[in-house]
Amino acid sequence: MKPPPFDYSAPTTLDEALALLLEHGEDARPLAGGQSLVPLLSFRLARPSHLVDLAGISELGSIVVDDGHLVIGAMVRERAAERHDDVRLLAPLLAQALPLIGHPAIRSRGTIGGSLAHADPAAELPAVALLLDAELVAQSRDRGKRTIKAADFFSGFFTTALQPDEILTEVRIRRPALRTGSAIEEVARRHGDFAMVGAAAMVRLEDGKIADARVALTGVSDIPVRATEAEAILEGAEPTDEAFATAAEEAAKSLSPPADLHGSSSYRRHLATVLMRRTFKLAAQRAKEAA
Ligand SMILES: Cc1cc2nc3c(=O)[nH]c(=O)nc-3n(C[C@H](O)[C@H](O)[C@H](O)COP(=O)(O)OP(=O)(O)OC[C@H]3O[C@@H](n4cnc5c(N)ncnc54)[C@H](O)[C@@H]3O)c2cc1C
Repeated sequence: MKPPPFDYSAPTTLDEALALLLEHGEDARPLAGGQSLVPLLSFRLARPSHLVDLAGISELGSIVVDDGHLVIGAMVRERAAERHDDVRLLAPLLAQALPLIGHPAIRSRGTIGGSLAHADPAAELPAVALLLDAELVAQSRDRGKRTIKAADFFSGFFTTALQPDEILTEVRIRRPALRTGSAIEEVARRHGDFAMVGAAAMVRLEDGKIADARVALTGVSDIPVRATEAEAILEGAEPTDEAFATAAEEAAKSLSPPADLHGSSSYRRHLATVLMRRTFKLAAQRAKEAA
């Protein structure tokens, strides 16, 4: 199918792009890597009358380290982030998650900001941002900048806290504490497909015990979710297989994943249990190695 007709602007500054969004209101949409928006246009599931291409705005394209935070511009391509030394060093979970997105050709176009703004409940980056307490910086022409915590950013199925006149400009991720390990695993029907269910975990050890455990899941709700029951069970526990299994099983009891033709709700709950257990174990192992 062909997209419906639209006007196209290619601004070279953020100010210019923000002015275009303000001028065209809900009829306009930012275009980042186009890996989700262009198919949506082609299927006529989105019908913006004006596309504001962010690709020429160099100020959205850098990765810098600022005051213990990794700051990633919204237009940084997923493949570029995946290969960046600072990402591997300061946000290892993000570096582990990026190769799970689609295929290299998709990641060469897809952007960090585009994936977060698109807010697919099966996508890896929203769950990673949630787990890492990332801060998402949005900017509008009228109201300037605001910082949104990842926990407040994803508000529903493909829906975020962004307003139509706002552009997500950067993501700020705090460097992990010492003796922290992370892991992400998922189950997809074919390599490169969106996962049916995914789990990302982070474990911090202190004196051989779990001082902090976190886990975020994809594919079990209309937004990425933290399994806080599992986190509470593990705090202060020994990092044993039994503890991870108990935490995963308890947390899974409160999940009501959606069913579709790829899997029933109970199958997805089972996947979530297995993936939580595995990622906790791997994250704890990595935390030990980092000690
Ligand atoms: C075959 C295929 C497989 C894929 N597999 C996966 C996968 O396994 N996991 C996964 O997570 N993703 C997957 N993707 C998605 C892809 O990798 C991108 O992350 C995603 O499409 C969005 O990034 P984009 O830069 O292409 O955004 P676009 O498609 O350009 O935009 C997506 C949405 O976000 C909005 N937007 C974009 N940037 C901004 C911004 N800075 N501020 C405000 N709004 C903005 C747009 O207006 C649009 O509504 C896949 C895509 C394809 C085509």
